[in-house]
Amino acid sequence: MVAKGQIEDLLSGYDRDAVSVATIGSHSALNIFKGAKEEGLRTVCLCTRGRDRLYRHYGLVDEFIIVEDLSDITKQEVIEKLVGLNSIVIPHGSFNAYLDQEQMLEWPVPMLGNRKLLEVETSRIKQHEWMRSAGLKVPRIYDDIGDVEGELAFVKFEGAKGGKGYFIANNEEAYRKKIGYMRKKGLITAEEANKPYIQEYIIGVNAYPHYFYSPLNDEIELLGFDKRYESSVDGVFRIPVPEQIGQEISPTFTIVGNFPMVLRESLLDEIFSIAEKIVKKSREIAPPGLFGPFCLETIIREDLEIVAFEISTRIVAGCNALIGQNPYTYLKYDEPMYMGKRIAREIKNAAKQDKLFEISD
Ligand code: ATP
Repeated sequence: MVAKGQIEDLLSGYDRDAVSVATIGSHSALNIFKGAKEEGLRTVCLCTRGRDRLYRHYGLVDEFIIVEDLSDITKQEVIEKLVGLNSIVIPHGSFNAYLDQEQMLEWPVPMLGNRKLLEVETSRIKQHEWMRSAGLKVPRIYDDIGDVEGELAFVKFEGAKGGKGYFIANNEEAYRKKIGYMRKKGLITAEEANKPYIQEYIIGVNAYPHYFYSPLNDEIELLGFDKRYESSVDGVFRIPVPEQIGQEISPTFTIVGNFPMVLRESLLDEIFSIAEKIVKKSREIAPPGLFGPFCLETIIREDLEIVAFEISTRIVAGCNALIGQNPYTYLKYDEPMYMGKRIAREIKNAAKQDKLFEISD
């Protein structure tokens, strides 16, 4: 992994009055760029040819670094350009989905967030263990579909696939049938079908809290919640039951969009406690622990128990539903605040206090 000292050396050469916020043009880049511009920072968009059109349209990018393939961002010329622009890179979901994690650990460009934890996030097993050992309620994991008998299981596959090809099964026969269905529809590959990740299916309401931990003022903030629109599971219920019966419908969970939500107020204290436990545990897993944006995926059961099934150690796309303002940031700030802007504010504050090394890895 790139040495902490190397990142600190790079940062010590940065012009603190001309820091740039850089990210890959996808996922939550518009959120990040808008926030940076609102905070008066320069922006750098890394993207493949043709993908720049959207980002040019919004006029939020000062510099484009166009690459043939996203993996080219690890090339020396790109690294030099980023460092020359005093860039702090903001990782988002595309960093996990499209880049080699080993290379990302070695990449000699300052990033906001803990790299080791970004890597932990790419393993469902490590994430699960982090949440469980922190004391969060988590779904049961089944080693084998044969153990599921009588329960509802949720079948996922390796990597963050945005829910593509995931399904529910309650026994081995249903499981085999659905694997066949997903293969036939081209939603999973033969290799994926051989490596299922089988979790207890939690019945309840999904709520995805977004947090920000600032090491500068040692505080966890709640920036809001989103809920997801997933295809086809959110579409199935529009079909009247008589028409559903007899159809071969196997709902999948491909993420299509997000919308903002608020939670009943009595749950908020627990939402903060959960985040505290996660941050505390992270310090053991990968010192100095979690910092910057992080988000959880939870399901709240009918007895109001909050079950966490995924953690993201970075901005999530659901934050895009809250660009501008939302009730929770309105409560804390006397101005519009959202994840992209909160990230930029942290960078600006760190630059002012000569503490960029505290928020970079
Ligand atoms: P992303 O990286 O976009 O979060 P992913 O591939 O990691 O996607 P998950 O978020 O784990 O996939 O799951 C996709 C969706 O499936 C969730 O948004 C949720 O609706 C549902 N889901 C996941 N795990 C469970 C569970 N244990 N019980 C019930 N529903 C679940």
